[in-house]
Amino acid sequence: MKAIRMVETGKPLELQEIPIPNIGEKDVLIRVRAAGICHSDAHYRAGRSAMGMMPITLGHEVAGVVEKIGSQVTNLKTRDRVCLHYNITCGDCYWCSTGNEQFCDSVKMLGHHVDGGYAEYIAVPARNAIPLPDEISFEEGATLMCASATAFHALHKGRVKAGETVAVFGVGGLGMSAIQLAKAMGAVEVYAVDIKQDKLELASEYNAIPIDASRADAVEEIRKLTKGRGVNVAIEMIGLRKTMEQAIDSVGNLGRVVMVGLNQQPIEINTYMQVLGKEAEIIGSNDHLLQELPLLVDMARRKILDTSRVVSQVISLNADKINQRLNDLEHFTSDVRVVIVP
Ligand SMILES: [Zn+2]
Ligand SMILES: [Zn+2]
Repeated sequence: MKAIRMVETGKPLELQEIPIPNIGEKDVLIRVRAAGICHSDAHYRAGRSAMGMMPITLGHEVAGVVEKIGSQVTNLKTRDRVCLHYNITCGDCYWCSTGNEQFCDSVKMLGHHVDGGYAEYIAVPARNAIPLPDEISFEEGATLMCASATAFHALHKGRVKAGETVAVFGVGGLGMSAIQLAKAMGAVEVYAVDIKQDKLELASEYNAIPIDASRADAVEEIRKLTKGRGVNVAIEMIGLRKTMEQAIDSVGNLGRVVMVGLNQQPIEINTYMQVLGKEAEIIGSNDHLLQELPLLVDMARRKILDTSRVVSQVISLNADKINQRLNDLEHFTSDVRVVIVP
């Protein structure tokens, strides 16, 4: 089969002809129908994160059709449409058995530690394959498994509940899902903070209140709009020092700040003013859980979560095109969301 693989760190990915993977008795073989190209993939290619093996097929946002099932598989049959949870966990370690599989001692991520979806086929444990209803395209199914799932987990970590207000800092793919899911969880008002007009416009189409941070101070605006009280939950999706500080300042008494954007820069916090004085919480959120995905897929099927406008370009399994896209992501030259359809 054809696979687009990372052969050497910092070098363009290469097309290789490799055998179709074998499956174990609890695995399924998936014919890939869509694989999203994610910003993380650009980081992997550049060598900013240790890979589980080399060469490796990238791609962790995958949807497709079950081609073959192992002898012990009972939850799926051939021809089923599925999308894939990208973390393969053991199910038995302390973390897995306490419902916190994101910390599994032997977690392996598709397209990072084991071969991913930039290929014609991929093999995964059967429990990593989530049924994908006919109403959701493969391209959407693939992107649900990364950005939307991460947004959903972040809202769970922030314990958003009915009647609350939420501010989302950064309304790209993650943020756009966060807005809709926060509404679905009962948030009465969602503020979308960004500096890009087109994103703010799309956010308002999803019933968020746009705040253009290039024109006004986002924290002051939020204070004004919440009668001085601040929001209940702030979700930070960017990872810049400024937006992290703004997220912390935007919550009111008993507020929860959820940090999702990856960052390397430390920030300063006045613990009295910003945390203990208002009994605020600063919460980290990383990845998502298998158990969150069936509900997420169902919300997409019911159009509670609309991701139909996320995918803006489809390309073939072509190394040059994929490398070009990764270059664009590396240099932030485009906001276009690209999905590979092999
Ligand atoms: Zn991703
Ligand atoms: Zn485990």
